[in-house]
Amino acid sequence: MSKEPNTLVSEEMPSTNGSSAQAEKEPAQAQTNSSLFPNYARYPLTLVKGQGSWLWDDQGKRYLDFMSGIAVTNLGHAPQAVAERLKQQIDELWHVSNLFHIPGQERAAALLTANSSADAVFFCNSGAEANEAAIKLARRYHQKVKQTGRYEIITFTQSFHGRTLATLTATGQDKVKEGFLPLPAGFKSVPLHDQVALEAAINENTAAIMLEMVQAEGGMYPVDPAFVDVITKLCHEHGLLLIIDEVQTGMGRTGKLFAFEHYGIEPDIFTLAKGLGSGFSVGAMLGKAYLREAFTAGSHGSTFGGTPLAMAAVQATIETIIDDKLPERAAEMGDYLFHSLQKQLGDNPFVKDIRGKGLMVGIECAEPVAELVLAGQKKGILFITAGPNVIRLLPNLYVTKEEIDQAVTWIAELIREHVA
Ligand SMILES: *Cc1c(COP(=O)(O)O)cnc(C)c1O
Repeated sequence: MSKEPNTLVSEEMPSTNGSSAQAEKEPAQAQTNSSLFPNYARYPLTLVKGQGSWLWDDQGKRYLDFMSGIAVTNLGHAPQAVAERLKQQIDELWHVSNLFHIPGQERAAALLTANSSADAVFFCNSGAEANEAAIKLARRYHQKVKQTGRYEIITFTQSFHGRTLATLTATGQDKVKEGFLPLPAGFKSVPLHDQVALEAAINENTAAIMLEMVQAEGGMYPVDPAFVDVITKLCHEHGLLLIIDEVQTGMGRTGKLFAFEHYGIEPDIFTLAKGLGSGFSVGAMLGKAYLREAFTAGSHGSTFGGTPLAMAAVQATIETIIDDKLPERAAEMGDYLFHSLQKQLGDNPFVKDIRGKGLMVGIECAEPVAELVLAGQKKGILFITAGPNVIRLLPNLYVTKEEIDQAVTWIAELIREHVA
């Protein structure tokens, strides 16, 4: 229930009126003296320094980082090559408007198109914005180029595509939609791997199908190749665009530069963000040449999209990933991580499944794992969940076998201690 506006401006209200209904319901939030909105449930840790696979907190304690800021710091913390390029750029030029040519943008885009099936790139600042651009491009292609008026995007249950109004509507998890009604029209989700439901959802208004190759937030589920064949066939038959959300899977994480490469497909559109700038906030939407004419001058834009500073981070990140053969490394180390987990935990009845692709691994457990995350932090390892019962492991792509051995030992201990 909403509070009366007047009570909000009372200076004493948030911390001292402990008997209010609000304070009883949400004591932790009512007692805070933070000036931030309480929209994040934060762990009781303050990390102040990072190097490679390791982070340090404000007490000087060291943590093995097996989450990488949720697949962002794919090159580890403070990677030298990116740091040097950013330092150079910071003395030259930070920002100019997209009303001008930006050579760094051309170079970063050329690197991305040379190393993928895409022909054109639009830069923005986040994953949600990249997906928003993909949705807009798909609609505009059908409406302006094909003159069909199609607008509907089909997505999948348990998917995650972002937090803007359009992308949370595209997201197939209801929890991100609560309290944000009305949602924009033009989205439908069907269960993953359900061909009948997918076929039934397609109609004359369908513009595109959008999916993650590994549903990450949704529980670390790689999409079955046979279902990808069904999707590509339906797209072809019905003239639909295929949009792949590579925001979490992209930039080498799964053992290929982009996860769709495992499936031998070429999406019409795909999106990147998390690992694209090694921690510098940047997103990208990439598409095939025939989509260029849908994004004519003035049709879409972003003040901060593709600044010289962001582009320095992107260029250095991509060059490093390619020079150091990090996708191959992710495949090899991912294999090692998967088999080490299998060996240590495969027979444990608490562990229901171990799955993933490359250095994107989920351990599905018999019970909620939130406590294991906290116990891990006490031991000195950081990982996160993917849904209530799944431990999500996302180490950086330079992770060593020794670090993997240490992580697997700790995780096996954590599970034994939890079960005991
Ligand atoms: C994180 C994520 C997003 C949203 O990215 P933001 O940068 O937080 O907006 C979209 N899609 C996928 C698959 C993601 O993992």
